Amino acid sequence: MLEIKDLHVSYGAIDAVKGISLHVDEGEIVSLIGANGAGKTTTLHTITGLVPAKSGSITYDGHDLLKTHAEKIITLGMAHVPEGRHVFTRMTVQENLEMGAFSLKDQSGIGRDLEMVFEYFPRLRERRRQLAGTLSGGEQQMVAMGRALMGHPKTILMDEPSMGLSPLMVKEIFDIIVTLRDKGITVLLVEQNAKMALSIADRAYVLETGRITMEGKASDLLHDEQVRKAYLGA
Ligand code: ATP
Repeated sequence: MLEIKDLHVSYGAIDAVKGISLHVDEGEIVSLIGANGAGKTTTLHTITGLVPAKSGSITYDGHDLLKTHAEKIITLGMAHVPEGRHVFTRMTVQENLEMGAFSLKDQSGIGRDLEMVFEYFPRLRERRRQLAGTLSGGEQQMVAMGRALMGHPKTILMDEPSMGLSPLMVKEIFDIIVTLRDKGITVLLVEQNAKMALSIADRAYVLETGRITMEGKASDLLHDEQVRKAYLGA
């Protein structure tokens, strides 16, 4: 459903992505792991139209994303949960979630969608009137994911959801990612926490300085000697 072929992306003289190819099939969790600066965020930003490609192709459900405006890409059913969450700190939890609704006019639809988000994240129901800036990092991650779900995406691109969270909270967030996949949402997960990312993914790619160096079933990569040495501290 999402296919990247021979993608090159540069920032001026810096080549951040150097000819990567990958695909994400419907209903999968695919993880893209790699160290700082490997090009993971750049790849996500190119998919969502925030950063232009130099060459290559990205197609999603038959649409050529490199020729599609960022705003239109959202309407194709693709949601992006950015690195650092970017919640609106001076707005309440509920107001943040409402920002993810397609149309603020359809009040009954918004009410239903809020209920759906609160079922995934009961903690957010309790805190619906709390200012988002006063939430813990994990709760802010839940708001960012909930906001994406308000648009009923078919695919979610998640950038470093584990960043800055305690191991317990990371587990909670990753359990929810698995639930989303089980409900039929396709997930492309970018992570530095390779162990967690490989443990929940169906397939994975390893990105090193802009190139894919390994790919395969996540369970195979989790046990691969090279991956264990480089990314799992084994
Ligand atoms: P991290 O986990 O640290 O976010 P990453 O794998 O997501 O790393 P990117 O953020 O995609 O990596 O960065 C890839 C390369 O592109 C890095 O060398 C980075 O310095 C460079 N880069 C990223 N954004 C820009 C930008 N706006 N201008 C110039 N160079 C950039």
